[in-house]
Amino acid sequence: MATHQRVDKFITTDIERAADAIRAGGLVAIPTETVYGLAADASNAQAVQRIFEVKGRPADHPLIVHLPNRGQISHWSAEVSQAAETLTAAAWPGPLTVILPRRADVLDEVTGGLNTVGLRVPADHIASQLLQLTGIGLAAPSANRYGSVSPTTAGHVHDELAAFLDPATDLILDGGPCALGIESTIVDCTIEPAQILRAGGIPAEDVERLLAGQLTGTAGPARASGMRESHYAPRCEVKLADNAADAIALQAATPNSEILDLTGDLVAYAHELYGRLRHADQRGVASIVAVLPGPEGLGLAIRDRLTKAAAPRPR
Ligand code: AMP
Ligand code: MG
Repeated sequence: MATHQRVDKFITTDIERAADAIRAGGLVAIPTETVYGLAADASNAQAVQRIFEVKGRPADHPLIVHLPNRGQISHWSAEVSQAAETLTAAAWPGPLTVILPRRADVLDEVTGGLNTVGLRVPADHIASQLLQLTGIGLAAPSANRYGSVSPTTAGHVHDELAAFLDPATDLILDGGPCALGIESTIVDCTIEPAQILRAGGIPAEDVERLLAGQLTGTAGPARASGMRESHYAPRCEVKLADNAADAIALQAATPNSEILDLTGDLVAYAHELYGRLRHADQRGVASIVAVLPGPEGLGLAIRDRLTKAAAPRPR
C-alpha cells in the first residue's frame, strides 16, 4: 500500500494507468522489493533509449528485463543452463537476476550490445500486478541518475528524476518503501560453473547451497555496472569503519559527520541504507562514517554498496 499521497503530475497509485503508460511507450518508475526501477516496454527501442537519457547512463550498460512469470524466460533466451533452472525455480519471484545467452531478437538497447540478457521475476505485489496487466517484459534499471544512490521510495524517485521525466508520457507508481531496499543478486549463468557478478538480496551462501558449491570465484573484470568502483554514491563523503569503536574515533576526527551503524540488524541495514544516505545529503552532512557489517548473508551486499559509495568519485 502507498504510505503517502502526493498531489503531483507524476506520482500515482493507479496500476491500470501505469500499464497504459507502458503500452503507450512511456516510462514508469515502479516499486520492486529491491529498489525502485525505471521501467519501459523492453521490446520498444525508443522507450528503452529514453531510460538511458533520463538516467544519464552510458548506452553500453545492459538493463535487467523484469518478467511476469518464469515461463517467459524462453521469450528472451533459448539456452537456459541447469544452474539457471535451479536458481530461478528456488528464488523467483525474488531478488535474483540471471544472465543468460540472449535470443537474437532481443534489442541491443536492452543488452548494451552484449550477447547476453539479464532476467528477473520480481516479488513485489505492485510490480507483479503491473507485469500481469501488461503481460510483457519490462526493462528497468534502478530509477536514479547514473552513479548515484538507488531510490527506495516514490519520493526519492521524484526528487531525483522529476526534472528529467516527461509529464505527457511518464509516471511514478507509488508502492510505498521497498521491502528489501538493496538490489538483486546477479548470477552469470552463461559460464560453467555460474558466477555471482553482484552481491544482493539473495545471500551468496544461498546461491552456493542451491548450486551445491558449483560456483566460479568472483575475481575478474567488472561486467555489471554496479561492479565499477564508484557507484551508489551520495553527495556527502562516505568513510568506512570496521567496528563501532573505530567509527566513534573517525567521527570525532571528521567535522560535520554522522555515524551509520545498523550492523546489529542486517535486514534493517539493507532497508535503511539508501534512505539514510539521501537524508544525510538533505541535511548538509559533510561525511557519513559507516560501520561495515561482516560479509555473511545480506552483509556482503551492504559491504559492497558501502565500499562503492566510499570509493573515489569520478570528476
Ligand atoms: P541497476 O538496476 O541499475 O542496478 O542495473 C542492473 C544491473 O544488471 C547492472 O549492473 C547491469 O550491468 C546488470 N546487467 C543487466 N544485464 C546484464 C548482462 N546481460 N550482462 C551483465 N550484466 C548485466
Ligand atoms: Mg543502479
